[in-house]
Amino acid sequence: MKALEIKHIYKEYKLENKTKFQALNDVSVSFDKGELVSIIGESGSGKSTLMNLIGGLDTDYDGEILIEGKSLKSFKDKQLDDYRKKKIGFVFQSFNLIPHLSILDNVTIPLTLSDVKESEKNEKAKIILKKLGLENQIKKKPTQLSGGQKQRVAIARALINDPDIILADEPTGSLDSQTTAQILEILKEIADEGKLVIMVTHSEKVASVSSRIVKIADGQIIEDKMNQNYVSSTKDQQIIEEQNLNKKKKEKHLSFLSALKLSVHNMWASRTKNFLMALGVSISLVSMILMLAFGAGLTNYINDLAQSYTNPKIVTVTKSSTGFMDFFTPQTFTEDDITQVTNDINDYLNNENIETEFRVNQSEIKFGYSTYILSGQATIQVDETSEEINITSLTTTPYYYTEEQLLVGKISGSAETVSETGEKIGEVIFNSKIVGELGLENIEDAIGKTVIVKIKDYNIEKKMKITGIIDSSMTSQILAIYIDYDYLKSLTEEQGKILSPTSLYIETDSESTTNLINSYLNTSDKYSVSMENQMANMFSEMMSTFSFALAVIAGISLLVAMIMIMVVLYMSVSERTREIGVLKSIGARKKDIKKIFTTESFLVGLFSEIVGVICSGIVGAIFIIIFKALIGFAPLTFYWYYFATAIGLSVLISVLAGLYPASKAAKLDPVESLRHE
Ligand code: ADP
Ligand code: MG
Repeated sequence: MKALEIKHIYKEYKLENKTKFQALNDVSVSFDKGELVSIIGESGSGKSTLMNLIGGLDTDYDGEILIEGKSLKSFKDKQLDDYRKKKIGFVFQSFNLIPHLSILDNVTIPLTLSDVKESEKNEKAKIILKKLGLENQIKKKPTQLSGGQKQRVAIARALINDPDIILADEPTGSLDSQTTAQILEILKEIADEGKLVIMVTHSEKVASVSSRIVKIADGQIIEDKMNQNYVSSTKDQQIIEEQNLNKKKKEKHLSFLSALKLSVHNMWASRTKNFLMALGVSISLVSMILMLAFGAGLTNYINDLAQSYTNPKIVTVTKSSTGFMDFFTPQTFTEDDITQVTNDINDYLNNENIETEFRVNQSEIKFGYSTYILSGQATIQVDETSEEINITSLTTTPYYYTEEQLLVGKISGSAETVSETGEKIGEVIFNSKIVGELGLENIEDAIGKTVIVKIKDYNIEKKMKITGIIDSSMTSQILAIYIDYDYLKSLTEEQGKILSPTSLYIETDSESTTNLINSYLNTSDKYSVSMENQMANMFSEMMSTFSFALAVIAGISLLVAMIMIMVVLYMSVSERTREIGVLKSIGARKKDIKKIFTTESFLVGLFSEIVGVICSGIVGAIFIIIFKALIGFAPLTFYWYYFATAIGLSVLISVLAGLYPASKAAKLDPVESLRHE
């Protein structure tokens, strides 16, 4: 049985205009082990076509190619990949080394595709490289070698899997005569070791060193003769048999780790491009994380603010506002309204689905007044001769504000006290803005000071003593005063006017009852919770819309990142078409090619997210510092799941983005890829 038998091969190429070109026309020839065959013919005579058929790179032909009696046509894809990997070693005119891999890695790549252990494959490669006189070059990159050296590396790669057949398509075509002689000597030695070496050439001189010369013209064999001068030193047949025995190992394939290593090498080779791409992706990640954090931070801030204003056991009822201006002129409750509120809440609490013993008792409802005052409507004066200072907000105590908000002093009752000089003076609480208005050094200095409070609407002009300073960040930019409700009411009555409450305070038995009633008030269109709560609600509604908008923008930027990765990988596939052809010629399966490219996009994602997460941390920290310096707090909340989402999404989009280019790479035709310039 012959090592290789070719029977009546016809090969036609389909051309674009539906015509066909007959590249091989009834070719029949067979070869034995140990032969060094030269296939010689003019350019275009069909030599490469024949080599590609023998090498299993092209399966579209008529006729039979028998390898040790088995027809190549009967091979399944998997067997064909295996055949290219194990039985065939390709050597090309243009060397076709992978530029970003070292010499050693170039030689071991066929073993890498079979997942051979690192130490084993390096040892094997070193033995072969030493034989070929390349032991000192193993760490270099292909571009650092001469033509002859490159071709020897390519031969080492072809030999590493110990194939039966070496196919060398014009191996000396790019070499000078001296190097040509060296390479031919190597090929002869390989044949002498019992392998079948088929070499294509168009040079008679090159052909003359081989054991057999097959001439081909216009797709047909026109001459086939043995070289009488050829001296073989064929080795013991037994050694050859032993070599064959060694090959019966369980088949393994490119491992994820090796794919990762290949990808890292390639990514490093085009690091600037990859870094820029990762930077782009990471910027979209950073913006996503920051936008989420910003949205959450502001929402939390506003919720906290609203929370800090409210006593957990107090329900604040206001009338629903019908327009924005109601914030400044809130609606007041009449006696009937108060009865109505009591009934409405009790009706709600009597609902059989609600489990609470609590009922609102009308006589225990406390009244409050709270308004923002238009400029000039309320003022204070330190004494009769000094300038009037505008007050912006007037709220009645004690219910609305909590003890925690009191910075100094006390939230007093309504008792009118008597000053040292014998005058009756009321009590007033300010927010900390008063300290600046009065030109004081410390908050404490404000306590005990007397001011004349003037409220124009009610004709009130009264000396009052500052008994406390409240911290209310919501009104920190305006001057706000707090007066006891009953005291304010008595002052208005003195002027013959009625102070109607704008808010009702209901003390409940527990926080859960408070929440229960609040949730009723929130859904009712007659009533609302306190003005501050309303504002907080409005803000948090605005914030959730805002956060959603931010998330959409972030999503779009991720999409852009995904398209960017796709474009870059797609370009990378075109750039590396030849490399893909080489990988296929040495037995890479479609799956392996896919693996290499998806691993690469996975790596881009991983790299981007590392850069992205670090950048988010840094940018976030900078924002926090800037915000703290500018406004005293940072409206940024980072939840771990923002990072987790960002990481997950970036891996997902990069892998998704890689799928199309990867499958394009896997589908490339090996013969065409090898022709690719
Ligand atoms: P050579 O002997 O120079 O290696 P080839 O085997 O490459 O020749 O090509 C043989 C003939 O087939 C040439 O005329 C070439 O133009 C043609 N040919 C090769 N590949 C293709 C292809 N993919 N499509 C069309 N024609 C092709
Ligand atoms: Mg050719």
